[in-house]
Order: sequence, then structure tokens, then C-alpha cells
Amino acid sequence: MGFNVLVVNCGSSSIKYQVFDMTDERVLAQGLMDRVGIPGTKLTHKRENGTADTIIQKDMSDHSQGIKLVLETLTSAEHGVIKDLAEIKAVGHRVVHGADYFAGSVLINAEVKQVIQDCFDIAPLHNPPNLMGIEACQYLMPDIPHVAVFDTAFHQTMEPAHYMYALPYELYEKYKVRRYGFHGTSHYYVTQRAAALLNKALEDTKIITLHLGNGASMAAIDGGKVINTSMGYTPLEGLVMGTRCGDIDPYLVIFIMEKLNLNPDEVNDYLNKKSGALGLSGVSSDFRDITEAAEAGNQRAQLTLQVYVNRVKFYIGAYMALLNGCDGIVFTAGLGENAIDIREMICEDLGFLGIKIDKEKNKTRGKEVDVADDDSRVRILVIPTNEELVIARDTYTISKA
Ligand code: AMP
Repeated sequence: MGFNVLVVNCGSSSIKYQVFDMTDERVLAQGLMDRVGIPGTKLTHKRENGTADTIIQKDMSDHSQGIKLVLETLTSAEHGVIKDLAEIKAVGHRVVHGADYFAGSVLINAEVKQVIQDCFDIAPLHNPPNLMGIEACQYLMPDIPHVAVFDTAFHQTMEPAHYMYALPYELYEKYKVRRYGFHGTSHYYVTQRAAALLNKALEDTKIITLHLGNGASMAAIDGGKVINTSMGYTPLEGLVMGTRCGDIDPYLVIFIMEKLNLNPDEVNDYLNKKSGALGLSGVSSDFRDITEAAEAGNQRAQLTLQVYVNRVKFYIGAYMALLNGCDGIVFTAGLGENAIDIREMICEDLGFLGIKIDKEKNKTRGKEVDVADDDSRVRILVIPTNEELVIARDTYTISKA
């Protein structure tokens, strides 16, 4: 019998899942439950080779109830892919923040759960639902291994010279204030794939990864190890994102609080949910809408695209300097994999850095392709990310150990 791994990713009001058969890494089923804990819960479930999504609408008051319905769906005669729960051999959980405690994935025990809880302060939006998901799954499947895979782990190779902020040192000592970085599982996956596509040993590669989704971050990776990444203590730092501002003058936080009369929670909301591409364009947080508006002549949408692209170019230059070279830049996540025009804008006029895009090859979406011009010194790779597969593989390896 196969070794099935359930991968679970719990957000504040959502549950995403995939079931892998690890004998051949096939995805047997996947789904998304929205509005968990809010009236109008909806589960969209898809089986391997399933022609249409199955939609189940039934209010779920919390994550435990939600996970229970997911497991019932996975084992149901009508929509299921397994006969009973015993066919799930291990569960892999995405956990956003592991601070500096975890440089890799770990088997979950009471101590690990305590650390995830200790990180609530640093990741108030993410770690609490992550832990809720773990507890719900452990309750329903108590006799199998549960593994935590952290978004921060891959970035733990950063040196203090890259992760320290120029703030009084006591903040680091007392509160662990430093750069952590996120999307680590995605940066890790595409780095491995990039080395394979470049036909080089990972140790011999210098790669810049661009995870451009609704949240966005970049990383400079030398020989498979992260040197620097654009997100910081929280996912607010770095690039312009769908609704997050990214890098700004830190004084502006004080200014905004004073002028708009906002308390800390409100300013947090303002910078995380109302800023970025949404705030600047006034159109949407989705770059498809912004591109459409820009093409129709909306000047703020055009400006937003330019500001966005300039920040990405800024980091490409910075990371080339930090790496002292570059074999390839990698585009991944929703926008990186699909936004042809934005990829072209980012790579435009970077010939001095050895980056030259082939506009014809660049007309591609969602596939692994080298879109660089033949004489580009730096390869430009589009690589669809697969965080779930990394979680499933780590869970399988750790469970078998
Ligand atoms: P993710 O967070 O990786 O799921 O990425 C989602 C985001 O990718 C969306 O909010 C869009 O901004 C962006 N995106 C996806 N497809 C396209 C596209 N064809 N053109 C521009 N942006 C896109």
C-alpha cells in the first residue's frame, strides 16, 4: 500500500490541503475551505483527474470542525480518495514562523508546539491558526506523525551581518528583533529546480529568486544557502505587494499614526492590508486588474506597475552585488509565473548586468522555461513553485526516519 501524506495549511479563516501518494508523488486530492469561523463556509474539493470541483457549503465554527469535514470528504464514498483515515500515514503542516529555533522541518511534539506558540507575538496573524490546525489534526489522527515545515527555516543560513537591523542591540537580545524572511519553502523549491535547469551542482550556483505572488519576496542564494532576503522581522518589509507597502521610511509609521489618528493595531492594518498595489493604484490588489486598468489608460495603475517593477530591479541589483555574480534569476508564484508583461518590464534595460530577456520565449505561463535570450549571461527562469510537494517530501522523510 502507498504512503499517503496529508499536507495542511491553515490560515486565519481558511484551510488548504493536498493528499500525496509518496510512492510516486501523485496528488490524489486537493482543496480549499474558505470562511472558516465566518458564516458562509465553502469547501472546494478536487480529486485527481476529477473533471469538476466538488463544492460543499456548510458553516464551520472553527478549524477543528473544518478539518473534520475535510477528512470526511477525503474518505466519503461520493468524493473520497481513500477508504478510511488509516490510509493517511503522516500529516505535514505549514507553519509560518519558527523564528531562529528551526533551520529545518521537525516532528511535532509538545516542545515544538510551545515554540510555535512562543512565536505568536512575532506572527500574530499566522501562527495561531497554524497551531489550531495542528491541534485539530492531532486530535483526529492521534497515532500518526505530524511534521511542521516552517516558512522561515530556509533563511536561517543568513549571517548576522545580513539579518541584524541597526537598532539598539538590546532589542535583539530581549525580543529577537532581526530579519527572518518568509516564503522559504518556495525559495528552497525553485532553487533546487533552478540548479537542475542550469545543469550545475547546487554548490556552484548563484541564484536570485523572485517569489512574486500576492505577498512577494526575493532571496539571494549562494551555493544553495540564503545570503539575504527582502522580507524581514515580518512579511511587511521589502517589495511592493498586493496590499503591503514593503520598504518605506520608518518615520512614516509615526507620521501616519499621528496624522490619521491610528493606534498600533490600526496602523498595522493600514500598512498590511490597505497599502501596496491596492493603496497606490486605488484599483485592486490583483495585478491582473491593475495591468488591465493601466492598458486602458489609468495613470495611477501605470504608476503602480512602474513603482512595483522599480523595487524588484532595485533588489536584483543589490543582490547581484551581494552575490558578486549571478547564474540565474528565477520568477515564481502567481505573478512571477503568469505576468508576461511584468516579467518583461523587470528585465528591461538590465543588459549591463548580463540580463537579457527573449520576448518571444517569455510568452509563457505556468511552465518551467528559460526565457533568456541566447546571449544573456544570466539565465532567466520561470519555475512554478510547489511548496506542498516540499512539505510532503519533508514529512515523508521525517516520518520514515
Ligand atoms: P499567489 O499569491 O502566488 O497566489 O499570487 C496571486 C497573485 O498573482 C494575484 O493576486 C495577481 O496579482 C497575480 N497574478 C496571477 N496571474 C497573473 C497574471 N496573468 N498577470 C498579472 N498578475 C497575475
